[in-house]
Amino acid sequence: MGDILQTGNERMVHYLTGLPNAGGYLQNISMLSRSKNLQEYTAFYFNLKSFGNLNIRYGADAGDKVLLQFTAKVSSFLEEDELLGHLGGDNFVALVKKDRKEKFCRLLNGIDATIRCDNRNEKVRISATIGLWDIDHDLREAGEVIGKPSIALQHAKYVLHKPVVKLTDEMLNRVSTQKSVLEKYQKALEDKEFLVFYQPKVDSMTNTLVGAEGLVRWKDGDKMISPGVFIPPLEQNGEIVLLDYYVLKRACEDIKAWIEAGIEPVTISVNFSRRDLLDQDLAKNIDKIITKSGIDKKYIEVEVTETVDEQEHGELAKFISDLYDMGIKTAIDDFGAGYSSLATLREFRVHTLKIDRSFINTDDFSWKDEIILKHIINMAEELKMQVVTEGVEREDQVGFVNNVGCYVIQGFYYDRPLPIEEFNERLRNKVYSSLK
Ligand code: C2E
Ligand code: MG
Ligand code: MG
Repeated sequence: MGDILQTGNERMVHYLTGLPNAGGYLQNISMLSRSKNLQEYTAFYFNLKSFGNLNIRYGADAGDKVLLQFTAKVSSFLEEDELLGHLGGDNFVALVKKDRKEKFCRLLNGIDATIRCDNRNEKVRISATIGLWDIDHDLREAGEVIGKPSIALQHAKYVLHKPVVKLTDEMLNRVSTQKSVLEKYQKALEDKEFLVFYQPKVDSMTNTLVGAEGLVRWKDGDKMISPGVFIPPLEQNGEIVLLDYYVLKRACEDIKAWIEAGIEPVTISVNFSRRDLLDQDLAKNIDKIITKSGIDKKYIEVEVTETVDEQEHGELAKFISDLYDMGIKTAIDDFGAGYSSLATLREFRVHTLKIDRSFINTDDFSWKDEIILKHIINMAEELKMQVVTEGVEREDQVGFVNNVGCYVIQGFYYDRPLPIEEFNERLRNKVYSSLK
């Protein structure tokens, strides 16, 4: 490896491997760029799969030794004008010529190391998860050689679940949207730029409005942004809870206004993200908001989705049970979409089960779906839960859903999520006469 780094400058190298750290790596990049065109290179960011487990199993000393063996092998692969850096932990960066990048990925895909354990040598195979960026322009700033492949690595680990991922424009757009959402969020909340739309739930036997779901929209200037864009970054950042409280407050205010105007409201369900469970006082705060608004609790229902995470499952069960004790209704959203389990039906004291639209989002309904749905709905009803099917768009879907025993429907067949002015009309006249 071209060790352009000045020796003697200890702050520029990693204490364990002696490889350049972030500062040293960037300095090396800038020196390399004086003699080479960086567009001939691919920038890598990688870390080791299951390195945490290895540390736990064999101890941190053994982990350090593995890192040293790993870096020795990677270093020996590199040519004079290629670079390697160790940012800390098991995070590495490298600059490798484009025509050698596949070979480099293959190397990182399986490096053997030896661990001394109980007086004998044990072989372990180390492989990396890799984000890479084919440098395609003159650098605007040196940090791009670390930041860009790190975006690809994040996608590799958390979005695509693949061992090697190359940076794309779509990933960059996603990151820039996320950044702008997070930057504008607080002010948008203060400026009341978030609006609540209401999507009717209709009893398909009588074509009567029986409830609605409050769904948030962001009015950013003249753009109306959908929750699919801004909720994921807010969830990742743990900031969604403020928005969820806000939506609940707005729904309570709207209900109060309907009552004051002499219009009989329906129960409004409001979504709470599972990330909100991090707030220890979630149930208490929800209760406070409803109580403070002065409306009857029967008008509110809290929607949450299931989880596969065991710890989260416990927290969710407690949250639902707390709300139950406070007299606040709950619903399990998107049931059947992921890893639904019977434990959900058994353990959660929920009032409503919302069947996910994936069950009916098909042109020909499978007999298996039909049997599964029939039994889920039957069970739910015997357990005294209400059942709602989401995402019903067509008449044949209404027929299918009715046939399996579900009559309350939320979907475009009746209405899209409506701005409050239009929803007011539905409340005034609750019967969908034209569909009869
Ligand atoms: P969700 O809670 O499952 O809400 C139902 C989504 O399905 C809504 O999308 C709704 O517009 C859409 N939908 C309803 N009927 C149909 C149909 O017939 N066909 C199709 N194709 N779609 C239908 P929306 O409003 O874009 O919301 C997406 C998701 O964003 C929601 O899924 C919910 O998970 C989340 N969300 C919305 N508002 C909030 C909020 O205030 N807080 C939190 N934490 N999440 C929210
Ligand atoms: Mg929902
Ligand atoms: Mg849903």
